[in-house]
Amino acid sequence: MSTLRFEAVKISLDRKPVQITEPTSRRSELYGLNVFNLSSLKHFLPKDAYIAVIDATNHGKKIDRKVAENVASAMKAWAISKGATHYTHWFQPLTGGTAEKHDAFFEPAGDGTAIDKFDGGQLVQQEPDASSFPNGGIRNTFEARGYSAWDPTSPAFIIGTTLCIPTIFVSYTGEALDNKVPLLRALSAVDEAATEVARYFDKNVNKVIATLGWEQEYFLVDSALASTRPDLMMAGRLLLGHEAAKGQQLEDHYFGSIPERALAYMRELEIECIKLGVPVKTRHNEVAPNQFELAPLFEEANLAVDHNSLLMDIMSKVAGRHNFKVLFHEKPFAGINGSGKHNNWSLATDTGVNLLGPGKTPKSNLQFLTFFINTIKAVHDNADLLRASIASANNDHRLGANEAPPAIISVFIGKHLSQVLDELENVSDGNLSPEEKTELKLNVVGKIPEILLDNTDRNRTSPFAFTGNKFEFRAVGSSANCAKAMTILNLIVADQLYKFKIQVDDLIENKNMKKDDAIFNVLRELIKESKKIRFEGDGYSDEWVKEAEGRGLSNFKTTPEALKVMVHKNTLDLFEKHKIMNKIEVEARYEIELEEYIKKVQIEGRILGDISSNHVIPTAISYQNKLIENVQGLKDIFGKDFEQYASEQINLIKQISGHISSIMSNVEKMTEERKIANKIAHADKRADAYCNKVKPYFDIIRYACDKLELMIDDEIWPLTKYRELLFTR
Ligand code: ADP
Ligand code: MG
Repeated sequence: MSTLRFEAVKISLDRKPVQITEPTSRRSELYGLNVFNLSSLKHFLPKDAYIAVIDATNHGKKIDRKVAENVASAMKAWAISKGATHYTHWFQPLTGGTAEKHDAFFEPAGDGTAIDKFDGGQLVQQEPDASSFPNGGIRNTFEARGYSAWDPTSPAFIIGTTLCIPTIFVSYTGEALDNKVPLLRALSAVDEAATEVARYFDKNVNKVIATLGWEQEYFLVDSALASTRPDLMMAGRLLLGHEAAKGQQLEDHYFGSIPERALAYMRELEIECIKLGVPVKTRHNEVAPNQFELAPLFEEANLAVDHNSLLMDIMSKVAGRHNFKVLFHEKPFAGINGSGKHNNWSLATDTGVNLLGPGKTPKSNLQFLTFFINTIKAVHDNADLLRASIASANNDHRLGANEAPPAIISVFIGKHLSQVLDELENVSDGNLSPEEKTELKLNVVGKIPEILLDNTDRNRTSPFAFTGNKFEFRAVGSSANCAKAMTILNLIVADQLYKFKIQVDDLIENKNMKKDDAIFNVLRELIKESKKIRFEGDGYSDEWVKEAEGRGLSNFKTTPEALKVMVHKNTLDLFEKHKIMNKIEVEARYEIELEEYIKKVQIEGRILGDISSNHVIPTAISYQNKLIENVQGLKDIFGKDFEQYASEQINLIKQISGHISSIMSNVEKMTEERKIANKIAHADKRADAYCNKVKPYFDIIRYACDKLELMIDDEIWPLTKYRELLFTR
């Protein structure tokens, strides 16, 4: 077995970077080459059909059958001109990944000839056999039908020779079975609420879109090395393995020069992305060895979410060509940094204004403060729900593990804005006096532009930080579908803006207040009410954990705990109020997330049991036998004096026995706990059992295995080590 490890190291050391020839066209010319975007739409569609599609995209208008026929035939012509032979509805089921089932355009005509067929019906709706996608009990197996339906707001694209049409995925009875449906509903809710509020400041605003710019972190590991690790292959992370002598202490990887092999991978990846219209822009080394980041320019949130899902798929595919395995797991290697996916978020009007961009005039500043403070209040009121939106078995390993924000949700806004809010909070009650107003406006005007200049005011330890003209939600995990976090964030902001509007209108109509006064007055209250969510200090520190507890902020360290809020009455009401999901849909999702958690921990438990029993223990016994032989030999030579020569070996033999018995007994206990847990009927209780009864054995077993790794002859150790996985270039 150990020969496999050495072969793998040898193979990986011999790897040369794959030669990438930069295409002859410039990247700007390749952009969107494989996307059925507005310009191809315009080119291939009759004018009235084109206008209908634009209307559908911008104003959510329905596309009628005739237009759909036009679009389908245009799409077909375009796709075939690009060499496509198949089409698929491309959707994001609740597995977190993407799903596709390819159908050929080709269809026999019945007279011995064949045609290429793709009509409006095929574009608009499909019925994939969906019985094997998670549905949380929404569909009985006898009614397993699911429908995918075209989402005209996200353009179709070609991968290889397949035309991919972004779609939503719903059940026969209309319940959402994917991540896109609730997202689209939340985006529409925030559009509606934010447009109303933005119109206090500019009557020309007719639409507000949420913008999202994600930053994808990942690890690259040589594929030969990865394939020697059953844990990495099946669970995406190392379940055991001692840290290398050198990790990231020297901080020599971050922003360092990108290793050639990785760079070749990135270049090919970027070219693929650019052709698919994913506007990738930034690449750099991350903190941990072999860890990297890729970020695009921000886009409308639905499109950005699709692009991230697409990216992750392409990343894995391209990695294969470069003999890499790409790791999206939030914490593949205990002891060194894990990976996140920062979600940079803002709201933009159809008049081209970033509502979280501090302006230079008093009016735009008040507008900025309105959206800024309402967002903080939304996070304050719904911190637990926001925490739930990023909960996963993987992310539990990362949150609070001293390189990522803790599981406590708080908001960082920086020194200047904190001062602005403090001043605003302290102006007297009732109508603002003219002096107060002038003072406030002066302060606000005077201070905010500085924020833009002063980009050093950054706090990397906050889960939700204001970064100049957007909020950055940093607690999102690297393997997550951004839709979950984006659905919740946009929903809670929509709800808060909606309430804000009611309060302001009430002051205007019933208290005879001027609009600006009314807005200031409500904002002041919001600042007071949401104060405890604001934290400017070190989020990684133990003091913060204590302080947060004193403030009454939640700290849900595990997924089963964090998810419970999803089915609280308030949450269900909030979802229903904005028509994001009904009770059935939310409960189904809760169930699915719990099941996913349970399965992940269950699988990890099995893998850990297997590796420790089949790899570690036999190796430990072989080495122990070698030591026993050695002791025996020393005895033969030195007779009764042998102990003074053999005492260290004897000590090692004893220690090895100790670890072996610890592994064996704990694997057995873990298996017993799994059996007990599996019998628990309710998923929430079962998840608790997996979390609190099964999982604690992981660390105990790992500890013994890792000790053995340090003792046992490197030549026979079968599992590729940290240093090999992380430092082979
Ligand atoms: P960093 O946080 O690493 O310093 P940047 O400031 O470059 O990174 O921005 C990170 C991401 O934020 C990018 O994807 C960028 O497009 C995105 N971003 C910038 N402005 C906005 C905005 N108004 N809305 C959403 N995302 C934005
Ligand atoms: Mg960032």
